[in-house]
Amino acid sequence: MYCCNCGNKLEDGAVVCIKCGVFVDNQNIPISKTVKKRKENNYLTGIVSIIIGIISFYLTIKVMIGGMGNVSTMSIENKVGYAINLTINPFIWALISFLIAIGSRNRNKILNIIGLSLSLLSIFFLLTEIVMVFIV
Ligand SMILES: [Zn+2]
Repeated sequence: MYCCNCGNKLEDGAVVCIKCGVFVDNQNIPISKTVKKRKENNYLTGIVSIIIGIISFYLTIKVMIGGMGNVSTMSIENKVGYAINLTINPFIWALISFLIAIGSRNRNKILNIIGLSLSLLSIFFLLTEIVMVFIV
């Protein structure tokens, strides 16, 4: 078995890692398995982040194309409600994608960066749309 802290190969029945000094008496899982599992999780969160990011981006674009009906004739109270209704759904998806991407252990993975970019792009477009509702 291997040390959970530094990965050093341990003697059978070892209580302390001679390399880093960490107690290893209850570590029954070899490091190769835990590291592998962690890598798979990184991969998975990256993909989930991208899929949700794509959904949020799609909804954002849909809002951008389909929205903005007769905003110019609305009162300011109606504009607030309109902006919220228009953007809340894609915003929630973008937020979920964003949180998954930044919550992942390995933030440097390319998949997480793509997911993060998609969600940030969606949020940026949504904020632009909210501003546009009040300008028009
Ligand atoms: Zn160690």
